[in-house]
Amino acid sequence: MIRYKTEEEIELIRQSSLLVGKTLAEVARHMKAGVKTKTLDQIAESFIRDHNAIPGFKGYGGFPATLCISVNEVVVHGIPGDYVIKEGDLVSIDCGVIIDGYYGDSAYSFMIEPVAKEVRLLAQRTKESLYKGIEQATAGNRLGNVGYAVQSYVESFGYSVVRDLVGHGVGRDLHEKPEVPNYGRQGIGLKLQENLVIAIEPMINLGTRQIFQERDGWTIRTADRRPSAHYEHTIVVRKGNAEVLSTFEYIEDVINKSN
Ligand code: MG
Ligand code: MG
Repeated sequence: MIRYKTEEEIELIRQSSLLVGKTLAEVARHMKAGVKTKTLDQIAESFIRDHNAIPGFKGYGGFPATLCISVNEVVVHGIPGDYVIKEGDLVSIDCGVIIDGYYGDSAYSFMIEPVAKEVRLLAQRTKESLYKGIEQATAGNRLGNVGYAVQSYVESFGYSVVRDLVGHGVGRDLHEKPEVPNYGRQGIGLKLQENLVIAIEPMINLGTRQIFQERDGWTIRTADRRPSAHYEHTIVVRKGNAEVLSTFEYIEDVINKSN
């Protein structure tokens, strides 16, 4: 069953989603070569709790941390630990929080300069593909248009779209109906209606789209061990233009000031 949201619910999801953006910005302030991923996780957890919110991922399905930190060939669901971030890394960080029972969900891939040109382009184009998808998430359009927009854009560069993992509805549950694939066909799938809240989250690989799961039961890697990028926004379907509830603004303020 798809749960369309009231405006009151959308406001709560907006608050959660904005706090995710602020949390990722706090993480960005500490993101540099030499930092352990578990340190970033601790910073995020403290920041969220200091804002009277609950880390949405910790304990979700047994996940042990506040952030999913997925470096280079790790696509998603990386567990923070003793890994030390180094120059050239592409560090994807996914975060969810709960405020008053409602989730917000957003992810950003950080480049630890200097990075290889092919990695920079992969990250830039993955972020662009997210906005191509969001452009299609309007009332009356079909869900297949969203996936098609992401897929056709990234495949034009020879990249591949991860198929086994998809975006999702967001609300009282982190993963609600419908599933939001990053591939698809125009005119096919669910007809989008106003007040549907979804997370759109392209996971784009430089090489093959094949992935495998590590023995830890979480970490998803590319089969060919080439890099993967991931960006995610929580949005609400509206007439005309989708409304983006999460934001990269705080994150990119931090990144731009440090450059
Ligand atoms: Mg996420
Ligand atoms: Mg998500």
